[in-house]
Amino acid sequence: MTEYTTRVLNAVRTKNANEPEFLQAVQEVISTIEPVLTAHKKYEDNCILERITEPERTIIFRVPWTDDEGHIRINRGFRVEFNSAIGPYKGGLRFHPSVNLGILKFLGFEQVFKNSLTTLAMGGGKGGSDFDPKGKSDAEVMRFCQSFMTELQRHIGADTDVPAGDIGVGGREIGYLFGQYKRLRNEFTGVLTGKALNWGGSLIRPEATGYGCVYFAQNMLATRGDDVSGKVCTVSGSGNVAQYLVEKLNQLGAKVVTMSDSNGTIYDPAGIDAEKLAWVMELKNVRRGRIKEYAEQFAGSQYMEGQRPWSIPCDCAFPCATQNEINGREAETLVKNGCKLVAEGANMPTDLDGINVYLQSKILYGPAKAANAGGVAVSGLEMAQNSQRLNWTREEVDTKLFDIMKNIHENAYKHAHEYSADCTADFTNYVAGANIAGFVKVADAMIDQGLV
Ligand code: NDP
Repeated sequence: MTEYTTRVLNAVRTKNANEPEFLQAVQEVISTIEPVLTAHKKYEDNCILERITEPERTIIFRVPWTDDEGHIRINRGFRVEFNSAIGPYKGGLRFHPSVNLGILKFLGFEQVFKNSLTTLAMGGGKGGSDFDPKGKSDAEVMRFCQSFMTELQRHIGADTDVPAGDIGVGGREIGYLFGQYKRLRNEFTGVLTGKALNWGGSLIRPEATGYGCVYFAQNMLATRGDDVSGKVCTVSGSGNVAQYLVEKLNQLGAKVVTMSDSNGTIYDPAGIDAEKLAWVMELKNVRRGRIKEYAEQFAGSQYMEGQRPWSIPCDCAFPCATQNEINGREAETLVKNGCKLVAEGANMPTDLDGINVYLQSKILYGPAKAANAGGVAVSGLEMAQNSQRLNWTREEVDTKLFDIMKNIHENAYKHAHEYSADCTADFTNYVAGANIAGFVKVADAMIDQGLV
């Protein structure tokens, strides 16, 4: 570490001591962008690191609502508007009991670099609440969303801040949030993405993060003359990202043997084919049931209560559930069992020890901010369609997504080989490449715009 990066990291640690996930994300970025900071003194002269690690604005608010029994409930709402140097704040809303300021700051910070990589004009933000939609009726979710939006609407707008979904926020929640925004502001505008098709949504948005992550994996495999066809894959999660990631892997001839939820993992050595996946989608999206039921439904599969999928041997692993779901020991198990590729559908699913294991063993590792950028990229395309009052076809959006993922891969590859000393003809450090490529664009815009 240089004197500059050590000083900034220490200051960030002191100021945000109770936010371990945020500190983890900052440490990962700062430790990899050093070569570019050393090569270009302007970033230090303009205090870019000090500024880029501080959100432009953080909003915390009370969300009162009434449950079906008539009891008053109070949750906490957040919006972290992290950086608007290259466009309006853009990033999802997460509804999960674990949500706190530190988690949303880590997600917002990652979003700044991810959005920059997409090549679209989007700044970074993130928000949400400690509200748990699990076990709530549709009417309760609606009342919560309406109360949440009653406060949030003052801070967002199509040219200011455009939220989307994340964990616990899918099509149902986006619908209720949009309805309340429209009612309060009396305007029909592209203020949220992830909308339903018949009122301003984009084709391929639900699929985008999962499909995009597989496209990124294909690009990484191509650098070694390989592809996903015939590969045995482990996937965690069974929500939006995981479902469409499994769909795309199946279409490309891979075999997916695991999915999971917060209670456990199912292992199906025969593969979760299209028919079984349709059953999972109905279970999760309609009945809102638990993944455990899969093992009761499909003979030959087993349920691993309280376990994650990483002990199952695979060629490729796709974590698609949540942050820090792979630690150093689990990363070692993956590599020892022959895993050649990890592409992250979830945000920061691997901890810093795990990342070091991937880098040292020189497997293909696609970090979240590059590999899962397809979701926000198609959100950007949804915003473009809303502005033009046009709808593009499924093929048009999928082709654009495919091209964006290819560009992100090329950009990360190029910056890695330009700046990261550990890159060779056979190995690319995509962590460094993605962080540097994302950083340079935002940092240069910040310098151009002066001290704001
Ligand atoms: P969903 O809510 O649709 O699904 C989340 C899945 O992860 C569920 O299977 C859930 O299980 C599981 N999960 C959540 N929390 C935990 C936990 N603490 N431990 C174990 N499993 C857990 O969310 P998404 O699919 O949208 O998001 C998944 C990941 O992808 C997140 O990291 C998100 O930030 C990231 N992401 C999402 C994008 C999108 O477009 N949706 C874009 C880019 C990244 P259960 O049902 O039991 O809670």
